[in-house]
Amino acid sequence: MNLLEIKDLHVTYGTGAAAVRGVDLTIAPGRKLGVAGESGCGKSTLAMALLRLLPASARLTGSVLLDGEDVLTMKWGRLRAVRWAGASIVFQGAMHSLNAVHRIGDQIAEPILLHGLATPAAARTRVGELLEQVGLPGARADAYPHELSGGQRQRVMIAMALACAPRLIVADEPTTALDVMIQAQILRLIEQLVAEQDIGLLMISHDLAVLADTCDRLAVMYAGRIVEEGPAREVYEAARHPYGRALSAAFPRIGDAATRRAPRGLPGDPPDPSALPPGCTFHPRCPVALAACAAEDQALRAAGPGRSAACVLVG
Ligand code: ADP
Ligand code: MG
Repeated sequence: MNLLEIKDLHVTYGTGAAAVRGVDLTIAPGRKLGVAGESGCGKSTLAMALLRLLPASARLTGSVLLDGEDVLTMKWGRLRAVRWAGASIVFQGAMHSLNAVHRIGDQIAEPILLHGLATPAAARTRVGELLEQVGLPGARADAYPHELSGGQRQRVMIAMALACAPRLIVADEPTTALDVMIQAQILRLIEQLVAEQDIGLLMISHDLAVLADTCDRLAVMYAGRIVEEGPAREVYEAARHPYGRALSAAFPRIGDAATRRAPRGLPGDPPDPSALPPGCTFHPRCPVALAACAAEDQALRAAGPGRSAACVLVG
């Protein structure tokens, strides 16, 4: 059985913004899926929908099966049990996710105690272990968030995400706020921990190169839909959808001779989800659009073994 199975997921905000429009994605146990796309394409909305963390005004349809159980229809009590213990989320800005007036050890212990997984004394021991796992001394449990660097705070967020031994971790731009060196360390840490503990990973980023390094498979999201999906390396090196190609050109791999030339910029921005263009939503920015693209949207279709793309020029 798949660890995560998202089927025909739609999310529309109270403002009328159709932020997620018919997303299908799966993650097998212990596997790593990357979701790439520019800012505003619906990635965080997708991440938050998985654990029903969206504002009440958001309308959700479709299903999100976590180990076969639909998160979207489960009762509140069950949902509380699933958050942290079934799946947990690491957000981008650790400073905003951590409480400034509580010691980090107490914050890491909170989900453990909330789920009744340990006595307070045992939880303290577990917090020490978790901090060591993410490369911080156990004694840092007594620190307040402002006493830590940005990278250390992100390590604390990862410790918290691991605290209840979840089967899935959702990491939404976990390193975007960090400088490049620290970014690489944090990515290696996440990779190592999910591999050791056989945790599934859904990693979100605007940077295709980062995802190609970390994930097994890669999905490219544009205007609320997945427009390309396949093995991570293949999608990064030879995307079939023009948007996938534009994204990978925008984020060249460091040290790769072929990409040392100036990256081709992608002019413009993704469309406003309350006023989507007709036809293929990418056509106004697409360098290879045909006249037909303004009239007809394309569904995902086979684009080679284990690959799919939603473009009239594919298949
Ligand atoms: P990403 O994470 O890819 O940058 P988001 O999921 O944050 O994208 O946003 C997708 C779209 O949904 C954007 O157009 C954004 O303005 C809109 N949006 C996000 N949150 C809300 C909200 N709470 N209410 C209304 N619109 C929202
Ligand atoms: Mg986001």
